[in-house]
Amino acid sequence: MKLATFNAGQGDELGLVTSADTLVSLSRAAPQLAKDMIDLIARWPQVEAEVRRISDEAKDTIDLNSVKLLAPIKRPGKIMAIGLNYADHIAESNLGTPEHQLWFTKAVTSITGPFDPIQIPKVSQAVDYEAELVAVIGTGGRHISKAGAAASVFGYCVGDDVTERAWQHRTPQWSLGKSFDTHAPIGPWITTADEIADPHALGIRGLVNGEMRQNSNTKNLVFNLWDQIEHISQAMTLEAGDLIFTGTPGGVGAGFKPMKFLKSGDKVRIEIDGLGAIENTCAPEA
Ligand code: MG
Repeated sequence: MKLATFNAGQGDELGLVTSADTLVSLSRAAPQLAKDMIDLIARWPQVEAEVRRISDEAKDTIDLNSVKLLAPIKRPGKIMAIGLNYADHIAESNLGTPEHQLWFTKAVTSITGPFDPIQIPKVSQAVDYEAELVAVIGTGGRHISKAGAAASVFGYCVGDDVTERAWQHRTPQWSLGKSFDTHAPIGPWITTADEIADPHALGIRGLVNGEMRQNSNTKNLVFNLWDQIEHISQAMTLEAGDLIFTGTPGGVGAGFKPMKFLKSGDKVRIEIDGLGAIENTCAPEA
């Protein structure tokens, strides 16, 4: 199933995307089901059958193009992101292959919608895109084994780990350069894990103004998602709705000579096979 958060002029609603151009409001069909996406994910074992029934019925469909799709999870508990996790991106970064998984956090306030603007911050002239597969945690927990990791994932979406390169690299700690407002667009919806046969076999592409800059496959992850979940859950409890940004392939703006940073008006499109696409236009910080 494809689960969306959307607005059709009646406040935020949960929705089920039922075809290429239709959506059903879960919030209208079953208002008692969940108050938001994290609540829905946390209660999934209890509500899945009902959601599936509403999905199969596909009654009272709404034109997908008539609604505003929002970030499927507007305020996750945490956003964990791994750096230097595709060989070609490691090469273009000139940072060397990390001995250990390199993790940083993105502030939860960096989340923005799948078609909302990416801010070019007042203090910045080095904003860059990073196409990434994003895993959404379902059951979560601590000390999740590699073998048990797949069962802890609720679903997947497309993400852009937007990065302010100067702020990223002027200190050893990357988190600030990764955490500007609007620098974590996600969406366009969450595809539940049962619909993705293998998350390590998905074409992933990043385009700027229609020019293909990144074109890879999640099979090229250095540490795959199961390694990642096993590793970070040794340190922290993963919870329903937490997001894991799994790394970006080569082709980021900083990898070009001269570097190709984003400027106002640039349109960044990230696509992943089976998960859809997000498209964000850059605009100056108000
Ligand atoms: Mg990244």
